[in-house]
Amino acid sequence: MPVPYLFKKTLPTKLLPFLILILPGLFFFPLQEVVQGTTSGDIAWRNIETKYTMIHYQSFEDLERFNDKVDYAQDRWGLKRLFSSSGSDNLIDKLNKKVDVLFERVQEILDMRKEMKKVTIKIYHDRRQLHDAYSRIYKKPCRFRAWYIYEYNTIYINVDDLHEGMLAHEMAHSIIDHYLSVRPPSATAEILARYVHSHLL
Ligand SMILES: [Zn+2]
Repeated sequence: MPVPYLFKKTLPTKLLPFLILILPGLFFFPLQEVVQGTTSGDIAWRNIETKYTMIHYQSFEDLERFNDKVDYAQDRWGLKRLFSSSGSDNLIDKLNKKVDVLFERVQEILDMRKEMKKVTIKIYHDRRQLHDAYSRIYKKPCRFRAWYIYEYNTIYINVDDLHEGMLAHEMAHSIIDHYLSVRPPSATAEILARYVHSHLL
């Protein structure tokens, strides 16, 4: 069939003036997208290392909100809070204990205690930022309030929409997936993680 051949042969010549106009655009827009993507995805994380976790956060304010939302063992640390001075060291110290106490409680409920690689907890500012992170990883819209990825051993949470049960649920996923020599089916892991959530207190 000569038509496609002719078509192929003549098309670039005919389109040359247009291509000259279009090409800079073709290079420019994808590049711009990449730059924008890097900017919004390039979060300057700060880290706190606890006994069992690596907490990644973006600002001291987020850390304060995280501390307020994760309302666990308050009776144990509440009295101390009354007499202790305020400040970042104090908050970090409190968070360290709280997160590790919660992690140990999850291990206790599951009866799964052993040396494990520290789980990373990524604290996002808000829903938009969390959903943005999800679509970067999965290339599709996010339907979740929080999630855990085994491959990165990372929990993704939004400090705007968080409570201790949610964090414990995601910690349970990490513990379950690392305790057993073979990862259980996802439905089984989910049942266990929900069990932890409902037996936290
Ligand atoms: Zn789950």
